[in-house]
Amino acid sequence: MQAIFQNFGIYVHVPFCAKSCGYCRFYKRAPAAGDMDAYALAVENELELLRRENGGNVPRPDTMFWGGGTPSSLSERHIERLAKILEPVLPKKEWTVEVSPTGLSAAKLSLLNDVGVTRISMGVQSFSEKTLNTLGRAHSLKATMDAIEKIDAAAFENFSIDLIFGSPGQTMDEWEFDIKKAASMPVNHISAYCLEFESGTSCCAGRAAESEYAKREREGDFLETAMELLPSLGFKQYEISNYSKPGGECLHNLSTWNMAEWIGLGPSAASQWRGLRRRSAPSFEEWQKGVLNGSPAYEDIVELDDEEMFSSALIFGLRMNAGVDMAEISARFPKADAAKYADTLEFLRTQGLLEFRGNIVRLTKEGRLVADSVAVELL
Ligand code: SF4
Repeated sequence: MQAIFQNFGIYVHVPFCAKSCGYCRFYKRAPAAGDMDAYALAVENELELLRRENGGNVPRPDTMFWGGGTPSSLSERHIERLAKILEPVLPKKEWTVEVSPTGLSAAKLSLLNDVGVTRISMGVQSFSEKTLNTLGRAHSLKATMDAIEKIDAAAFENFSIDLIFGSPGQTMDEWEFDIKKAASMPVNHISAYCLEFESGTSCCAGRAAESEYAKREREGDFLETAMELLPSLGFKQYEISNYSKPGGECLHNLSTWNMAEWIGLGPSAASQWRGLRRRSAPSFEEWQKGVLNGSPAYEDIVELDDEEMFSSALIFGLRMNAGVDMAEISARFPKADAAKYADTLEFLRTQGLLEFRGNIVRLTKEGRLVADSVAVELL
């Protein structure tokens, strides 16, 4: 049996973006005057509340992740303030900060380096101006290239970039160009996400006529291209959407797919800790009011029993190329009825979507192309 996966993480949601991208579903807003001070104060209160809720102690995490929103939209003063607030809980192993190509100065990167950040993750999305325009991104290709140069010069331990495929009008040649260009950058990690079209968002005009089947087929072709091309360029797939050079895997995200524990700070941030999964209100005002009044506004509260955790560990774990060790998750969640999945797993194996190796069950290449449908079968 492989070792039991253990990781405690802290996720910090920084809810500010100068401009909203057409496809985005994350909680964010354009920062108004005073918002960043108010945000830092509320995070300080939220951390204190969590401490009190847990007998005066929030342990030092293994990993920390500042996501958003756009954490790099914080001023240098606010980055320093937030890092100071979080000083007692700075991570032991990995600290990721998401950045946007716009407004990323060498001084800001140097500050992030000085406070201990180990991984920069930048939303590049595409190396084509045409695709960036379709997506409604605020940055230009020139801003991307300038930012990559500055991040490279700052020499963080890990540098990750995100790409998006499947935007309206994007051709396979354009997608292959994006992949090759990304792999030629000084990065050790690439994420490749599928754009999910949502009617009504500004980047989706004209897509409504495409049938669900045609859309899925096109997205599958793009995913398959990434799965074939990126490994040939030195980036091994370790999760449906994530590829890295050796040692470049994102530990914080691995802990999510492994159903480890984490706490979230900031509006809309989710936590999974000490038997509870819950999410803060996706509203700056509601979140702020709650933490300042000592009664945080949580939603989607789920009490986690072995059954729920086993199911999540199986479904999310299958996203990873390493697959799931059934003996390991049975040992972690002993009260779960593991046997009830046997027939479905066997059916998926006969369909060529899963393979078994000893205790390990994992998706085949065909299975990875339809991972969401496999997850639905297991629900
Ligand atoms: S920068 Fe990121 S979080 Fe902000 S609107 Fe764009 S996709 Fe959403």
